[in-house]
Amino acid sequence: MTKQYDIVVLGAGESGVGAAILAHKKGLSVFVSDAGTIQDTYADTLRNYTIAFESNKHSTEIILHAHEIIKSPGIPDTQSLIQEALKENIPVISELEFAARYTNAKLICITGSNGKTTTTLLTYHILKQAGLNVGLAGNIGHSFAEQVATKNFDFYVIEISSFQLDNMYAFKADIAILLNITPDHLNRYDYSFQKYIESKFRILQNMKNNDCFIYCSDDETIIKEIHTKTIIPKQFTYSTQAKESQNGYLQDDTISIEMPKTEICTIKTHNMLLQGKHNYGNTMAAAISAKIVDIKNETIRKSLENFEGVEHRLEKLSYTIRGVEFINDSKATNVNSTWYALECMDDNVVWIAGGTDKGNDYSPLFELVEKKVKALICLGTDNTKLLKDFRGKTPIIVETNSMKDAVQAAYKLADKGNTVLLSPACASFDLFENYIERGIQFKEEVRNL
Ligand code: ADP
Repeated sequence: MTKQYDIVVLGAGESGVGAAILAHKKGLSVFVSDAGTIQDTYADTLRNYTIAFESNKHSTEIILHAHEIIKSPGIPDTQSLIQEALKENIPVISELEFAARYTNAKLICITGSNGKTTTTLLTYHILKQAGLNVGLAGNIGHSFAEQVATKNFDFYVIEISSFQLDNMYAFKADIAILLNITPDHLNRYDYSFQKYIESKFRILQNMKNNDCFIYCSDDETIIKEIHTKTIIPKQFTYSTQAKESQNGYLQDDTISIEMPKTEICTIKTHNMLLQGKHNYGNTMAAAISAKIVDIKNETIRKSLENFEGVEHRLEKLSYTIRGVEFINDSKATNVNSTWYALECMDDNVVWIAGGTDKGNDYSPLFELVEKKVKALICLGTDNTKLLKDFRGKTPIIVETNSMKDAVQAAYKLADKGNTVLLSPACASFDLFENYIERGIQFKEEVRNL
């Protein structure tokens, strides 16, 4: 007879293997199944823990016999195996849902369409500098479940994507941050923006009235949705546009964090390495959460000043060449993130953009491009759309299809005091493995100049 496992884990990546380790340590019987090949390091880890697994197949007789299934966020609910499991009434949950059952740590959870990684790392950095016993989890670094299995943190700062939220039910954040909601990943939501919005709002599920919800009040989608809902946790808002009744706001070159019964925390933006309006918003969200966990103003200020930013996100290279500055924003894979990159540039930008177009509407960029971009270097296997949409919006457009050519062309067109910005507004898969490889190649080619 087929063995009935307590837990079957689908997908043997970072989160799946972490979940398997935790299940094993908690004395549950666990089986891991991956339809593809499993990376050697993960296979070795599973062997070391004597956890049963299979690769390059899914044995349905085992999987559909499980008490509970933990699925990788990469597997959509529409997949036939998941559909069959649900028909059999087998609960299908995410790794975060599973791991949260086994920790009493305070959970600071961050979601949004853009800025999750930056805000998560920034919040973690502040808590760490304050000397708190804090772990970093979610889409970054080691899985939450593995850390719950092997560490004993008092706090976790967790980056959560909508895909993870979709399979979370009893999970509860102590502090939830919702940065923004712009259309993304709609293919996983029946092309319904509303369904994607609902998914993001799952971050609030189960929260009590002594928990805290931090959100950006400049985001019309968030505000509109809030008006249709009963929000139970305490609310904290921030804005880069308004000051009135905000907990975080921007005035001239000063970010202020104003919380009940504590002294205002102020930070001069020019003292921060993290630049750009979007990052000031991210900074406010992180600083409000730091105030909620009672971190001193001085510690918050110092941490914000020495936070160096995150690689491939508006990453300013540490040197100039012939007075030309270079910025790597390879992670800008959609129009919204590139808008913010251009917004914080001075004039005379040589802009490298392009790649795999996800049905982009470039029109939100037109005004900024007309004002700030002196040349556009298209970098992609097919640059037709960029060429068509930006013709006449910038004096010079050059077509390239390798990073080497793109960087050399950009450098040739840049004068002393200009900036070369890689902020593609597109995915990278036409010419690169991923956005990381694209960013690394950019930096290499700049070094080779
Ligand atoms: P995520 O983890 O949500 O993808 P990242 O922090 O990795 O977010 O940043 C992705 C891209 O979005 C980068 O180009 C970054 O400069 C830009 N970005 C960061 N914060 C924001 C924000 N609040 N709004 C819009 N774009 C942002």
